[in-house]
Amino acid sequence: MTDTTPVLEIRGLHKSYGELEVIKGVDITAHRGNVVSLIGSSGSGKSTLLRCCNLLEDSQQGEILFKGEPISWTGKGLARRPSTPKQILRIRTNLSMVFQQFNLWAHMTILQNVMEAPVTVLGRDRAEADADARRYLDKVGIGDKCDVFPAQLSGGQQQRAAIARALCMEPEALLFDEPTSALDPELEQEVVKVIKDLAAEGRTMLLVTHDMKLAADVSDYVVFLHQGLIEEQGTPDEVFGNTQSERLSGFLSATR
Ligand code: ADP
Ligand code: MG
Repeated sequence: MTDTTPVLEIRGLHKSYGELEVIKGVDITAHRGNVVSLIGSSGSGKSTLLRCCNLLEDSQQGEILFKGEPISWTGKGLARRPSTPKQILRIRTNLSMVFQQFNLWAHMTILQNVMEAPVTVLGRDRAEADADARRYLDKVGIGDKCDVFPAQLSGGQQQRAAIARALCMEPEALLFDEPTSALDPELEQEVVKVIKDLAAEGRTMLLVTHDMKLAADVSDYVVFLHQGLIEEQGTPDEVFGNTQSERLSGFLSATR
């Protein structure tokens, strides 16, 4: 692999749910250290795209490459992906997803939530995983919440725990699916700050967001999806400052 090989590359992707085609030929490239934001109306296919990258969904056409290695492709009209659970796990570990609804385990403490997968999935030493988990919880500003359960935290704190959990897998890239949209405005900013810090650190991220200010601030590249197709894309300056398509202008004025 050369340094110019993208961390994640989506080529000509098509995805249908039954008869309904929701991704209709999308190409997206994320180079190392890049933040690529996906914006678009509800139902435009943003979550589906992320879920395809993480192999939570199969696609019908096109391919997805992780550091040059095909992780999803089609052959003889069928969706193909790496065949062993171990290979799939390696990809999910490397492309770690943060969901809108946090998805923490309610019966585990915050520390257990963060260290569970490194220990049980990656086979890390428990003491090391514990230390890493505490370090990442500190990093997202909730180092004092190790021993409480998710229900005892605010939404913003829960989401920060979910981000710490994703970071603990030491992924090559983070996939964020509207990480702030389930939060009250005052809690949103706590999570926005963490995402900005991660972007400033040079993390590779694919970020689905409804927060145009966040997209403008952190992105190297912005993709506007409309009904499963890329309607417009470019740098934040191009997309937000020199909008071409009427659909994008309409979308942006509706979100202001
Ligand atoms: P977005 O994240 O941009 O709001 P989604 O990717 O969630 O969009 O959805 C794109 C389209 O796919 C929508 O029409 C949605 O109803 C449909 N869809 C999403 N998930 C499923 C599913 N599991 N089964 C059937 N249709 C789905
Ligand atoms: Mg969505």
